[in-house]
Amino acid sequence: MRNFDYHNPTKVVFGKGTISRLKNLVPPRGKIMLVTGGESIRKNGVHDQVMDSLKKREVVEFSGIAPNPEYDVLMQAVDMVKKEEPSFLLAVGGGSIMDGTKFIAAASKYTAGDPWEICSKLAKVTDALPLGVVVTLPATGSETNNIGVVSRKAEEKKIVFHADKLFPRFAVMDPEVTYSLPDNQVRNGVVDAFIHVLEQYLTYPVQAPLQDRQAEAVLLTLLEVGPKTLAQKQDYDARAGFMWCANQALNGLLKCGVPTDFATHRIGHELTVHYGLAHGEAIAVVLCWLLRHQRENKQDKLLQYARRIWMIEDKDEELAVNRAIAETECFFNEMGMPTRLTDYGIDPAEAAETVRKGLERDQAKLGERGLIGPEDAADIVRASV
Ligand code: NAP
Repeated sequence: MRNFDYHNPTKVVFGKGTISRLKNLVPPRGKIMLVTGGESIRKNGVHDQVMDSLKKREVVEFSGIAPNPEYDVLMQAVDMVKKEEPSFLLAVGGGSIMDGTKFIAAASKYTAGDPWEICSKLAKVTDALPLGVVVTLPATGSETNNIGVVSRKAEEKKIVFHADKLFPRFAVMDPEVTYSLPDNQVRNGVVDAFIHVLEQYLTYPVQAPLQDRQAEAVLLTLLEVGPKTLAQKQDYDARAGFMWCANQALNGLLKCGVPTDFATHRIGHELTVHYGLAHGEAIAVVLCWLLRHQRENKQDKLLQYARRIWMIEDKDEELAVNRAIAETECFFNEMGMPTRLTDYGIDPAEAAETVRKGLERDQAKLGERGLIGPEDAADIVRASV
């Protein structure tokens, strides 16, 4: 096992009716700035629940952050922070809102230069406004990690940043708020969580038996609760299982002491920026092609995945691995998630060229061994027919 530091300071408050506890979770004094997205939280009553709990507090709101939060919009929120001077930010929404709030928290206190540097140069975040979150969409794990992803259309970029100052102080997770999710967002969330686990599990093997079993537990649980969540909107236990899986998939625990390979996400970001695919959709059209492309490099762990997750006993190891990748694709498809660019009417050859240029510009070397260069990424995308 590799050396590692593990620190996760976010308090999780999980279960039915937990939004009512916000009043005791936010700091006792000072103005609170809500950060929200579109209409969904007004339609499903979450906004009312939040305001009810905070009724004795001074609250201002910045709303209108769209999926894949855009830098220019987030900078409008930073202007509002400077005017209103809140002492605490409260994100209410999915990954886009939580990530956007992390950026606002950091950018509001960034004095070293242009706040875009937090993304473009991964500039050190030495100070940030404190934040908490109310999760409405299980998917990203953003509620208990220190990561954010921000897009800037003008530069055709979608960039990941991270800083320990950006761990939320608390995460309120009430599975009942997910009853209003449309099916496409449920499948995006299940697929995102499943791929987060694979990106920390399907890397070259190190002796980390507990981390392997933890990853496998999350994968097996997602295989069980994912279809149930889609089939029955108000199956509380399935939704609670899904919500906790999505959290465990990217709360930092699975990556302890093991190599990670977030190439699927990095390539997926290019597809979102250039073709407008939702985050879950973009990574679903990359993953299985990337695993086929990297089969030899990842053979040992892919075989373990085949045996332990898909119970494939074939003696022919190559066949077993191919079957495991095919089963993964089938699982996504059965959840209604396409796995080919052609399913979206996107020409894989053209997309391959776009991805190649995007990665070349960043001189990206992806994968746990840095073996996936721009040409490899283009080959992976080209295969998605
Ligand atoms: P999202 O972009 O936050 O939300 C997608 C849509 O779901 C929005 O239109 C939103 O509606 C709607 N929605 C949210 N909660 C709802 C509810 N309870 N009922 C009905 N509709 C609801 O989705 P996401 O998948 O959670 O976040 C994706 C972003 O996270 C991407 O930018 C991705 O790159 C990033 N990400 C971050 C991490 C991380 O570690 N930080 C990891 C992976 C991905 P409204 O428009 O009405 O708000």
